[in-house]
Amino acid sequence: MRIDVLTLFPKMFETTMTESILGKAQEKNLLDLHIQNFREFTTDKHRHVDDYPYGGGAGMLLQVQPIDDTLQAIKKETPETKKRIILLDPAGKTFDQKMAESFSEEDHLVFICGHYEGYDERIRSLVTDEVSLGDYVLTGGELAAMVMIDATVRLLPDALGNEQSAPGDSYSTGLLEHPQYTRPAVYKEMAVPEVLMNGNHKLIEQWQQKESLRRTYLRRPDLLEKMEWTKEMKIMLDEIIEEENKRDLN
Ligand code: SAM
Repeated sequence: MRIDVLTLFPKMFETTMTESILGKAQEKNLLDLHIQNFREFTTDKHRHVDDYPYGGGAGMLLQVQPIDDTLQAIKKETPETKKRIILLDPAGKTFDQKMAESFSEEDHLVFICGHYEGYDERIRSLVTDEVSLGDYVLTGGELAAMVMIDATVRLLPDALGNEQSAPGDSYSTGLLEHPQYTRPAVYKEMAVPEVLMNGNHKLIEQWQQKESLRRTYLRRPDLLEKMEWTKEMKIMLDEIIEEENKRDLN
């Protein structure tokens, strides 16, 4: 997969993109990352990328020309790839695991990181998607782009080592991940659930499924509304509700 990032702050990507899974993905040639400073595409001698808003108002807006020209250069260099051009913007669709999955199926992603007060509206006509990291305002799109790239690249086949896996992660299954434990078996009187230590894989799997459902029911009940329910899962949920009601009474 090729990813281009249009930014005014290329240095922000230097360490994040070379460490851990993202660094390894590049070493394995799964990820071909290009950080593009769109200031290099300005045409005026002062290399301005922003200007005052027409009609007045606070702050400066990114101008359309440097971003358009950077995109044209990327398109010229890679005419063969179908591109998903993503504008990072608090008013965009909220990023989630499903979106990360759909990004991971693309050949070529281009992220545009805004800054200052925002964009000249015409920049929106150059993109395929407008995406927000969440309901808050960041200083620039860089951190949002890094989060989205991380969540996307770890889903590429072979990006994760054997010791890690994506399919059981929270949200991939539609549920939050079940609780997990490692050694020691008892720590400050907190013991690992017995079932995890008896070696019965069927019972362990049932426990994990139920605890995954319990955690989702307790913390993110909204996710349950989107689930496809099997009969077994419905029975499990009824049991959980009963157990939790009893716990509340005690
Ligand atoms: N005035 C803008 C508004 O109210 O929507 C906010 C501009 S913000 C200070 C500058 C840039 O940071 C945005 O253009 C965008 O690229 C990025 N940004 C800020 N919050 C973001 C979010 N929640 N998700 C994605 N990008 C964000």
